[in-house]
Amino acid sequence: MEVEREVEQHRDLLDSLYDAAYCVDRDRRITYWNKSAEAITGYTASDVVGKHCWDNILVHVDDQGTRLCGKGCPLAATIRDGVAREAKVYLRHQDGHRLPVLVRASPLRDRTRNVAGAVEIFNDNSAQDALTEKVEELEDAALLDPLTEVGNRRHIEMRLRDRLAEMDRYDSPFGVLFMDIDRFKVVNDTYGHDVGDNVLRMVAKTLALNLRPFDDLGRWGGEEFVAIVGRADEADVRSIAERCRALVEQSGIPNGSDYIRVTISIGATIAEPRDTAESLLIRADQLMYQSKTAGRNCVSLELHDSTAAPVQRRAE
Ligand code: GH3
Ligand code: MG
Ligand code: MG
Repeated sequence: MEVEREVEQHRDLLDSLYDAAYCVDRDRRITYWNKSAEAITGYTASDVVGKHCWDNILVHVDDQGTRLCGKGCPLAATIRDGVAREAKVYLRHQDGHRLPVLVRASPLRDRTRNVAGAVEIFNDNSAQDALTEKVEELEDAALLDPLTEVGNRRHIEMRLRDRLAEMDRYDSPFGVLFMDIDRFKVVNDTYGHDVGDNVLRMVAKTLALNLRPFDDLGRWGGEEFVAIVGRADEADVRSIAERCRALVEQSGIPNGSDYIRVTISIGATIAEPRDTAESLLIRADQLMYQSKTAGRNCVSLELHDSTAAPVQRRAE
């Protein structure tokens, strides 16, 4: 009741926020959900008010794909200690893809100054706006893959040539990720081709939203995607690849009370002065196959001594 009273007092302010905001009581039951929260997450207030925030709604994860609803929940921690905190998390949009957001949790207190609940405020870090802009640019240049709305094969080929020229001139390192959806044929065979198409869109969106603004993403063909990660050394490439893998694993297309999920196998490599676009793609593709052989849902990164080591970090 106390949280409801607090929210009532501040409703005009909360309703008019550009940021998304929602309030929970001490049991983390959602009592309020503003218009921006509806716009950013796809869930309406009537979908979620009355449910608990851990009720399979946004299912926040960190960049390792670890679910935060148990021990890592920023709202639970703020309710426990009354201290406001910030965290970068990845929420699940109603459509199923993973969206990066910066959340701020603040305590809500009753008249006796006891913590009665908490409010979580977040925005989508303009990731969505930047993505829309990129789609328009690619479309204008006829470099868009119409199904997934990421770059097409020609876009990747052109960008690889540009990056190699930049590397020659400015010595700017970059990496290439070759990503292939695991056992995608099973998805088509089980749910049909249209659902398969939705899964392709969902995976593309998770990847596009979670690469950095100056990275490039394209659909290489079928269920294969290539990302070019700029200004990146081996450690950056490894962590970006691992984040892509983990966030795809934690995405899913809503299907009744369950989710249709897929994983991806990744081959990751760093460009070297003697590389061509073709040699880079061949190497990244071969590394991707090593990930398939190593059991799928993992990253194989080429090390600088030119041996390749599969890195398996699979969340249970
Ligand atoms: P692996 O883990 O070895 O990669 O197994 P896989 O089943 O993903 O590999 P395979 O290459 O045998 O199957 C890829 C499937 O992707 C087969 C093809 O029908 C499907 N596919 C390719 N393009 C599209 C598309 O645009 N839409 C849909 N729905 N399916 C597609
Ligand atoms: Mg394939
Ligand atoms: Mg595949």
